[in-house]
Amino acid sequence: MSIQENYNHIKSQLPADVQLVAVSKTHPVSVIQEVYDLGQRVFGENKVQEMMEKYPQLPKDIQWHLIGHLQTNKVKYIAEFVETIQSVDSEKLLFEINKEAIKHNRKIKVLLQVKIAEEDTKFGLNIPDAESLFKKYVDGEFPSIEITGLMGMATFTDNKEQVRKEFLTLKTIFDELNKVKSLETLSMGMSDDFLIAISCGANSVRVGSAIFGRRDYSQ
Ligand SMILES: *Cc1c(COP(=O)(O)O)cnc(C)c1O
Repeated sequence: MSIQENYNHIKSQLPADVQLVAVSKTHPVSVIQEVYDLGQRVFGENKVQEMMEKYPQLPKDIQWHLIGHLQTNKVKYIAEFVETIQSVDSEKLLFEINKEAIKHNRKIKVLLQVKIAEEDTKFGLNIPDAESLFKKYVDGEFPSIEITGLMGMATFTDNKEQVRKEFLTLKTIFDELNKVKSLETLSMGMSDDFLIAISCGANSVRVGSAIFGRRDYSQ
């Protein structure tokens, strides 16, 4: 299938209120432009360097989401233009993003990445740490940041019940925090599991290979 067919196929499966983050990592700007021309405006990258290179070559109304692990010393390279950092997994990182946001006189949106997978290869805050970080935010510790929601990745497995269980865990935490201060975004689900994620309450999905085709190397 062509990229256009892939894109339309994905869009046709998404309820109107579910945001699509098109994950363009490893793909060239020409292909991103093609998907932009189909109407897509939100793109996700997992590496700072790659996002920095692509940003100046593409239309300025693209909303760039960083979805991969972010080192504190690299926040400064994207602070001026990144729309949302989905992968906040430490207090140190939140502190740094807040500092850079102040420097650039803007607010940066972030999601707290919560570890829900059984595998221990994935980044993310454990649940108590996510809750205590959110509390500090609610108490006003990070004034130039807006925590707009949570992000999570399920275990890489064919076991749909396990994936569902992990997504439902994140949905429960989302609902709890949402009572304390209202949140917009629950980001979960990728090419292979976005429909499960939506059935568990996701309102934002990060889809790469199902739009752009397989990547040359796995990241
Ligand atoms: C690569 C990546 C995705 C997209 O994965 P696909 O399986 O290609 O859809 C989603 N989220 C994160 C954090 C990623 O790194």
